[in-house]
Amino acid sequence: MKSWTRREFGRSTGAMVLAGLGPRLAASESKARVVVVGGGIGGATAAKYLAVSAPTIEVTLVEPKPNYTTCFFSNLYLAGLCSLESLTHGYETLAQRYGINVIHDSVAAVDPVAKTVGLKSGPKLPYDRVVVAPGIAFNYEALAGYDEAATQVIPHAWNAGLQTQLLRRQLESMEDGGVFVLVAPPNPFRCPPAPYERASLVAYYFKQHKPRSRILILDAKDSFNAQDLFLDAWGRHYRGMIEWLPAQFTGGIKAIDVKERSVKTASETFKAAVANVIPPQMAGQFAQQNGLVDHSGWCPIDPITFESTLQPGIHVVGDASSAGDMPKSAFVANSQAKACAFAISAALTGSERQSSHLFNTCYTFLSPDDAVSNAISFKPAAGTIKIVDNFVSQVQESAENRHRAAREAQSWYSAFTRDTFG
Ligand SMILES: Cc1cc2nc3c(=O)[nH]c(=O)nc-3n(C[C@H](O)[C@H](O)[C@H](O)COP(=O)(O)OP(=O)(O)OC[C@H]3O[C@@H](n4cnc5c(N)ncnc54)[C@H](O)[C@@H]3O)c2cc1C
Repeated sequence: MKSWTRREFGRSTGAMVLAGLGPRLAASESKARVVVVGGGIGGATAAKYLAVSAPTIEVTLVEPKPNYTTCFFSNLYLAGLCSLESLTHGYETLAQRYGINVIHDSVAAVDPVAKTVGLKSGPKLPYDRVVVAPGIAFNYEALAGYDEAATQVIPHAWNAGLQTQLLRRQLESMEDGGVFVLVAPPNPFRCPPAPYERASLVAYYFKQHKPRSRILILDAKDSFNAQDLFLDAWGRHYRGMIEWLPAQFTGGIKAIDVKERSVKTASETFKAAVANVIPPQMAGQFAQQNGLVDHSGWCPIDPITFESTLQPGIHVVGDASSAGDMPKSAFVANSQAKACAFAISAALTGSERQSSHLFNTCYTFLSPDDAVSNAISFKPAAGTIKIVDNFVSQVQESAENRHRAAREAQSWYSAFTRDTFG
């Protein structure tokens, strides 16, 4: 009888253990892997719907922040109508209920040849597909005098969190009778109605607390989304408080003077008590640095799968994508993410692709109990994405309809954030 040395015994039992685990290990090694870059609305929805539609895929979500604060409803926070905590969501449910690996880090780069995603802290994650949803970046070069450092004095508050808090504090400490100057960006930008919703809700706040104060909107454009609805509401709720100056009137925004807290246009310089500059926008930095962006500053995609037309195997959803008629909204990011998740799970598991509906619903507050909505249906057509059907609130609607839309908006917020974060 052979007497076993300790080493031989170890080798032998090790082999038996491995043989016992063989099939499972092989399965896990061959598991398809998807890495999602960015845990905002687009990324979190893509991760969740990938995990739900294809449990055999290993899904990893990389997001630097421990919590996500929604831009939607952040104008209500500025008006003092909700807390920032109520707009903040964690990633625990995505990890615990859906088995997603959530890593709090930044993705530094994608290597499409080695098929790895490099984390800022060092490790590289192998992938079969990547979903990129980094949101927007600000094109500071297009606005003289305004840069990242300036945002600490004149906030943009176009990513929710500290910036929104800063703007709220400035509004609170502003003297009654001051002018709030809001610089609205050129198209395309995140959430077309949001600058004008912000003006409406800040006017509501002034009406309650600083009734002699005024709002001046200096626009980089000559018209804006749902203009008739806003102009009507400003006349009804905030007569004489909000002035909107289009680019054709001022000659366009030329520069920001941070020290003077003023905005220089071609015709005049406007001094602010509080200023809110929303700069021109482009796809998030990560997309810029990884070859996903074309001359427009946004990411061209296949309209069915949201796969980049510049980098195969990498999909882009949310604000960073260039998606035809689809506006840059949270609802759109969520809708695109589902279409993308279904396309990836079909490609990686060989299953039939579930059809998805590209849709946008948007609620906009004119005052706390006066809200308007729109609902738009889209479909891929001729290599891009086109509107097929459209509902928009009308100027002459009854007050009851508007109250109902405001109540629906609150329910929409809860249902929508649950759909995204768990
Ligand atoms: C004031 C305001 C009001 C709005 N109201 C509405 C509304 O009522 N309805 C609506 O539908 N939409 C609304 N929006 C628009 C909505 O917030 C955006 O369209 C939506 O957040 C876009 O989602 P996203 O996933 O593309 O980007 P984001 O939600 O911005 O998420 C991007 C994420 O990517 C992460 N990230 C970036 N780079 C990296 C990297 N290198 N590695 C890892 N992670 C990275 C970021 O940390 C961030 O969490 C509003 C926007 C604003 C500003």
